[in-house]
Amino acid sequence: MLPIEIRDVSLMYDTPGGKVPGVKDVSINIDASEFVCIVGPSGCGKSTLLNIIAGFLAPAAGEIRIGGKAVTGHGMDRGVVFQDFAQLFPWRTALGNVTFGLEMKGVPKDEREKIAREQLRLVKLEKFTASFPHHLSGGMQQRVAIARALAYNPAVLLMDEPFAALDALTRDDMQRLLADVWRETRKTVIYVTHNVSEAVYLADRVIVMSAHPGTVKADIRIPLDRPRDPLSADFLEWQKNLLRHLGHDAGGGEAGQKSNGKAHTQGG
Ligand code: ADP
Ligand code: MG
Repeated sequence: MLPIEIRDVSLMYDTPGGKVPGVKDVSINIDASEFVCIVGPSGCGKSTLLNIIAGFLAPAAGEIRIGGKAVTGHGMDRGVVFQDFAQLFPWRTALGNVTFGLEMKGVPKDEREKIAREQLRLVKLEKFTASFPHHLSGGMQQRVAIARALAYNPAVLLMDEPFAALDALTRDDMQRLLADVWRETRKTVIYVTHNVSEAVYLADRVIVMSAHPGTVKADIRIPLDRPRDPLSADFLEWQKNLLRHLGHDAGGGEAGQKSNGKAHTQGG
């Protein structure tokens, strides 16, 4: 629910083999409550950019402002969800995972459990509050991670390929669920994916990054009404349009790799 300004952000990684470009001169303005997807080939700097916005990495140049305030490190105004199922605390229940941030914030036990139950309801896990992560499926674990990121009511939700490790059908369910969660919460979302169909399904705007050095190559508004139908002609047209921006042949080949009529790009 806060706008995000990304201004001329660059970062190089120091490696034993020399400097490796992470991202270069990235500028993006994101409105409050906007859902922005960042797509691009594997290694183009999507995760680097997300980690800079999260405050986990400091850019060598440029700056990030959230609600006009410069980012200097991680803060409670941002919730983060990663691809990895291991992001949950294995020794805590679903409820315990979601209450964690609230505990850190000093919220009293009754109140934080009430908030956590409400967040778990939002991701349709109200029956699994007492379950430990290893008893939950991958999709359910990612839903706990989303509930946990939302629990302290951040204005911004940052997601790095959160559904990439899930099977195609579960991923479709999760995309629908996330679209519902976004409609209810109106968070500002930055969502990294290499999956073009996912971007067309979720995004108000898609930022296409080019490979090496990672810069913004295109900024595309997706004007489709919600809820979106991945099998509609318009949807497929936007998917092709995005694939073209990514430099793929939209006629077949990699775009032909499908689940439920949805095409995916390779890599990530
Ligand atoms: P993406 O998420 O788009 O796949 P990344 O942001 O992970 O891309 O990586 C961008 C570039 O930075 C790649 O060339 C990658 O090899 C390099 N890189 C990423 N993380 C590190 C790191 N910790 N140390 C050195 N190089 C890195
Ligand atoms: Mg990545």
